[in-house]
Amino acid sequence: MTTNTSDQSPPTQARAVIIGGGVAGCSVAYHLAKLGWSEVVLLERDQLTCGTTWHAAGLLTTLRDTETQTRLAAYSQQLYRRLEEETGQATGLIECGSIQLALTPAKAEEMGRGYRAAQSWGIECEEISAAEVQRLWPLAYVGDVQTAFHFRRDGRINPTDVTRALAKGARQAGVAIFERCPVIAIEQNHGRVTAVETALGRIETSIVVNCGGMWARQIGRLAGVDVPLQAAEHYYLISEPVDGVHPKLPILRDPGRSTYIREEAGKLMVGIFEDVARPWNVAGIPADFAFGEIPPDWDRMQPYLERACGRVPVLAETGVKLLFCGPESFTADHNYLMGEAPNLKGFFVAAGFNSLGILSGAGVGFVMAHWIVHGNAPMDVWSVNIRRSHAWQNNPRYLADRVVETLGIGYQDHWPFRQWSTARGVKRSILHDRVAAVGACFGESAGWERPNWYARPGQKPVYEYRWGRQNWFENNAQEHRAVREAVGLFEQSSFAKILVQGRDAERALNRVATADCRVPIGRVLYAQFLNERGGIEADVSITRLASDRFMVVTAAFTATHVTAWLRGNIAEDSHCVVTEVSDAWCMLNVQGPRSRELLAGIASGAWSNEAFPFGTAREVQIGYSQALAVRITYVGELGWELYVPVPFAVGVYDAIVEAGKPLGLAHCGYHALNSLRIEKAYRDWSHDIGPDDSPLDAGLAFTCAWSKPEGFIGRDALLAARSQPRRRRLVQFLLSDPHEMLYHNEPILLEGRRVGLITSGMFAHTLGAAAGLGYVADERGVTDELIAMGRFEILIGNRTVPARASLRPLYDPGGARPRG
Ligand SMILES: Cc1cc2nc3c(=O)[nH]c(=O)nc-3n(C[C@H](O)[C@H](O)[C@H](O)COP(=O)(O)OP(=O)(O)OC[C@H]3O[C@@H](n4cnc5c(N)ncnc54)[C@H](O)[C@@H]3O)c2cc1C
Repeated sequence: MTTNTSDQSPPTQARAVIIGGGVAGCSVAYHLAKLGWSEVVLLERDQLTCGTTWHAAGLLTTLRDTETQTRLAAYSQQLYRRLEEETGQATGLIECGSIQLALTPAKAEEMGRGYRAAQSWGIECEEISAAEVQRLWPLAYVGDVQTAFHFRRDGRINPTDVTRALAKGARQAGVAIFERCPVIAIEQNHGRVTAVETALGRIETSIVVNCGGMWARQIGRLAGVDVPLQAAEHYYLISEPVDGVHPKLPILRDPGRSTYIREEAGKLMVGIFEDVARPWNVAGIPADFAFGEIPPDWDRMQPYLERACGRVPVLAETGVKLLFCGPESFTADHNYLMGEAPNLKGFFVAAGFNSLGILSGAGVGFVMAHWIVHGNAPMDVWSVNIRRSHAWQNNPRYLADRVVETLGIGYQDHWPFRQWSTARGVKRSILHDRVAAVGACFGESAGWERPNWYARPGQKPVYEYRWGRQNWFENNAQEHRAVREAVGLFEQSSFAKILVQGRDAERALNRVATADCRVPIGRVLYAQFLNERGGIEADVSITRLASDRFMVVTAAFTATHVTAWLRGNIAEDSHCVVTEVSDAWCMLNVQGPRSRELLAGIASGAWSNEAFPFGTAREVQIGYSQALAVRITYVGELGWELYVPVPFAVGVYDAIVEAGKPLGLAHCGYHALNSLRIEKAYRDWSHDIGPDDSPLDAGLAFTCAWSKPEGFIGRDALLAARSQPRRRRLVQFLLSDPHEMLYHNEPILLEGRRVGLITSGMFAHTLGAAAGLGYVADERGVTDELIAMGRFEILIGNRTVPARASLRPLYDPGGARPRG
């Protein structure tokens, strides 16, 4: 299968079928072929690029919100630079550079931090003055510019041409591309994709890649797979010709005005990322929409166009050639949807690019092809992994309400702790009104409304976003101290609870988890689930409830992934069933030195160390309920997690609150949970540990039961790595200056040299300064001496702050308190 034409019929069998001939589909096809796969077929409903790709503005800007997106963009730039030479198809690449403006001190702080992190990822960038912006962009008004950042290697490209170049490269390497060939059905058997039905015939295949752009949601439905994305209107304007503009004029990104401006054939193009977007065709994208446009709404765009005229005054005197509006797909969190579906083997998705599909398209194809061929992504892609999404997110009203906010967010302030303001209140715990009544300020995770911090009487439970100390700093301090000194109550019902049950449950779980699950009923284990490379796919607690039943608990946002991971790694003939039961149980977490006193006063049984040791669980009677009490901690104190059936939870909550009053009980939010766990150096999956981090590097090898008879997934990789010197280790840092704050991505310096980035950070109220975790990498090996003796600093914006480094937790290094 080397060449093809669209008037031929597709084959009846293929190794992989790609649905969609936009930039994503063509890039996946190109990269699969480059990895040596033959019999790859790409099916396009109409003509290549006819969906969203043809009308993109073609910006190639590298610095994105996350490291993953930045790396995908950087790879794309690299490939696009050589694609024309390789394929003979022009791409229209112009390396004109880009400038990003900061108009406020807050934006300057945010961008300064972002650009210093990006330097660690190999992105070329320099901070420039307003005068320098003026020199590079003579037509721009710069009177309001605080500072700016110049990315010389950025540029722009012709989206249609670059997609055609990818398609040509794919064809040259053997991919068969069929246009006017819509996929109309997808077949599956025993949880695995088996074939696609097209208008031109049926193709048997074990790999399907859904690159259907804004149709990807509908295509997903053909397979029973949720692809939560929604199209929204997206605009740019093209002016009449303007004197003085030229192709090498850098792209001017102006977050303060929600616009970018670039040259387009002697004219100016103004792209708009409005604050309040408009969803398009919520009920479904028309099947015959090709090279389509949406009639523009001038009134809605007027304020943004006026703002753009403020930046480039000549625009006000220049006629408008075109106000273009086209649809693009957006997701609930402004990240892409990539990877294998959680509920259908062999069905992959690459869609939902939030208006970044061209600049990341090559990177997307590279990652997807690797994932398909090798079974894993070539880098940590959790932030774009489709398994971070939840089935309920495919609700059309939710998506329509949320994408109103998603479109503009890239150009807004990325405050620390910023919360979504649309589509809120999706999931509320039965305790929601109770915690609201005592001042909870809610944040959202996985759709759950969760108390992040509690306002004091007279204080509004509202975020006032800023860099530096937050308006809830003192609330956090009080909650933090209460847990260290008395007792705190955390409402954590959102936590994911997964039952692993059946005659073979012990054996099946034992193979997936690092810990030895052959334990008596009532034992609680801390464990990771690893991939074959030894990377951490999940960080969980496991409680043995019966000889044939275990409960796995993990963070709410990982529920889909962890459930899928368990199911995917349990043999089909195993007598073991995995069931997510998160919504059936509330979880009340009582932590602190007086937690024993509190619970012993209202719950059945003995609560002494001997009667109820650390790492054990048992049924207790509390309030009018039976609950599962689990002695474990994520804050480093004596404490118990109480799992209470939902209908009983209000009564149990009231009983705890009442009994806690004389003991100094504090209502504590997720920010306190975070500050406490960072102070204690407990790791957080997706921040500090993930699929590319091994327990050896992360200091979690103590969870590994090396000598389990049947081993565990990832053990061989760890054993091989164990004999090597440690070149990367997770370290805790404590700043010397209590006025500085850590969030994440701040560069770590050792003797002035960059050796890593902070993965998570927060003010540690007991230690008295901001603390953070981060990997230190050194090819010569990261020894205990290096950490103990090295001169460490953290780069925060343009400030270099000395920091103490430690491999052991700086708070309670011996771990005596949870066991007290
Ligand atoms: C105004 C505007 C400006 C933009 N500017 C930029 C920019 O400057 N930089 C940037 O990076 N991105 C930009 N974008 C975003 C970019 O265009 C998209 O992210 C990208 O084109 C998405 O590519 P795709 O392959 O996922 O989707 P598409 O290009 O839509 O491709 C999906 C394909 O699937 C096909 N299909 C659908 N259903 C079926 C079926 N059943 N069977 C077979 N085929 C099917 C469709 O026909 C379509 O061709 C812009 C978008 C807009 C609207």
